[in-house]
Amino acid sequence: MEIIYRIHAIQRMFERDISEETIENIIRNGNIIEEYNNDKPYPSYLILGFVKEKPIHIVYAENADQIIIITTYIPESTKWENNYQYEDKKMKCMICKHGETVSGTTTITLERASSTVVFKDVPALVCNNCGEKYVDQKTTKSLLKKASEIVENGVEVDIRKFKVAA
Ligand SMILES: [Zn+2]
Repeated sequence: MEIIYRIHAIQRMFERDISEETIENIIRNGNIIEEYNNDKPYPSYLILGFVKEKPIHIVYAENADQIIIITTYIPESTKWENNYQYEDKKMKCMICKHGETVSGTTTITLERASSTVVFKDVPALVCNNCGEKYVDQKTTKSLLKKASEIVENGVEVDIRKFKVAA
């Protein structure tokens, strides 16, 4: 069975130094803790495995020929313990429909014509199931404004830490 990775999953793996061999090993030997048999277009699964004794979750879908790695994350991650303003804005994830959002940060890439602007450490609501991210209106406003300024200055590539406007 061929394993196909969503780019989002590769990004999460790289962040946490998890190899494709580790993912394959967990898919073969881990414990499936939830089955979403009605998921479309393919049934999907949440599986638990361990990397250096630390738990990781992998969400994947399976059809007759392929296993598609959707995301991987550390359950109940302490990485998201920061007390940003999203604390009490929990919501269900619109993309996977299973997860709930938790407060976190993300990297956002915005592109227009030949310019690419990358903001790191952007406060976000992160789905604890699929890793989808949501950003509030104030942060969105600030992102669009800063990115436009950078692009209008003719910069081709800009990578910066995002600062929450005071
Ligand atoms: Zn989700």
